[in-house]
Amino acid sequence: MDEGIEKLKKNVGGYMKAMVKPIPTSWVDFQSKLQDVGKTRLHVSLDEVAKIASECGISKPTLNTVLDYLNDTGIILYSKTNEKLKYTVITNLRMMIDVVTKIITVVKPDDIDKLPTLMHLCNTLDSEAILQEQLLRHLWRHQKKKDASNFEVFIELMKVFGLLFEKQKGSQPGNRMFMVPTRMQINKEGLEVEEDEQQTVSIYVTPTDFLPDAVYNLLVVSFLDLMNDKGRSSDHVELFRNRSDFDLDDEHVVSLGAVKIKSRNALKIEISHRIKVDEHGKEEPLEPHPSICMEVLSYLRQQLKTVYVTTEGVGYELRVLCHACEPMLRPLHKLEECLKKDSVPCGKKKLVTTARIRRLFSTVEKTTRRS
Ligand SMILES: [Zn+2]
Repeated sequence: MDEGIEKLKKNVGGYMKAMVKPIPTSWVDFQSKLQDVGKTRLHVSLDEVAKIASECGISKPTLNTVLDYLNDTGIILYSKTNEKLKYTVITNLRMMIDVVTKIITVVKPDDIDKLPTLMHLCNTLDSEAILQEQLLRHLWRHQKKKDASNFEVFIELMKVFGLLFEKQKGSQPGNRMFMVPTRMQINKEGLEVEEDEQQTVSIYVTPTDFLPDAVYNLLVVSFLDLMNDKGRSSDHVELFRNRSDFDLDDEHVVSLGAVKIKSRNALKIEISHRIKVDEHGKEEPLEPHPSICMEVLSYLRQQLKTVYVTTEGVGYELRVLCHACEPMLRPLHKLEECLKKDSVPCGKKKLVTTARIRRLFSTVEKTTRRS
C-alpha cells in the first residue's frame, strides 16, 4: 500500500521494458567467468577484472557499463564512485553476507569464552553498540588470513550500506572504534509528531519518495562528530536505534528520532532548552537560543547534503509543523518558505505567521520588510 513501493514498481517496470534489447554474448561470457572466480574468491581487483573482460572481447570503455549492469542485476557489487572501493569488485555476495552477518547479528563467537579481553569487548558491543577494532579483527580473522586486503574492503563496504560507522574519525588503524546501528537498543520513549512547547522547536526531514534507514544512522554519527568537535564526552550522548539525545551545551539538548508522518517514515530533530528551576523550585521554560538553532540547522543541511549525495534520485524536504491547525490533521510547512515569508498560506482559509520560526532560525534580525 506504500506510495514509495508503487513508484518503485513503476520505475522497475519502465526499466524492464528498456531491457528487452538482447545482451551481447561477450557480456554473458564475461559474467560466467566472473562467477567462476567468485566461487573461491570474495573480491578481485579491478585490474584482474579488466583482464578477464579483455579476454572476453570487452573493450575498456565498455567495461564500466558492463560492471554497472552486473551490479544492478545483483551478480557482483561494484561502486565506481567510492574512492576506497573503485578498484575492487566483489565477486561473491553470499560470502560477503556471511561476513556482514557476523557483525550485525547477535551471534557470539564460539571461542569467546577463552578470551577474557574479547569477552569484555563483546559486552560493550551488546550494551552500547560500540565495536572495537580488536574485536572486529577477531571476528573477521579467517577472511583476513585468506587475504589481508579483505579487512579494509569489508569495513568500507559496511560503511557504504550504513551498517558500520567510524567513531571519532581519524583514529589510528588498530585502535579504531566503530558504531553498529543495528545493535543499538530501542528506547521506549520515541519522539512524537506534536506541537512544540515553549522550550522546544522541531524540524522534520520528510522524504520526497522514501527515507532510507541509513539516513538516521548517518545523522547520528554526524552529530557524534559535532559533539566531538565541541569537546563533549560520551556522557553527554544517549544513543538508541529509534532516538538519540545530544547535550549540545549545558542549556540545550538536541534529540534526533524516527517518526511517522501520514504512515511514511520521517525524521524529527528537536532542539530544546532545559527548564530553569529557581531556589524555590519554580520552573521557568525558556526558548532555545537562536544561535544554537541556527547552528543545528546549518549543520543538518550540510550533513544531509553529504548523506544524499550517494543516494541518487532520493530527495527530502525540511519542514515544520503548522501551529494553527487541528492537532490530528496538522500539515507541515516548508521550512525554507517559512524563513522567507512573514506568513504562509495554510488550507483554504488561513494565513499563518512564521514569526517564531523566523525568530529562532533566521540570521536576519527582525527588519520590517513590506512587499
Ligand atoms: Zn495550518
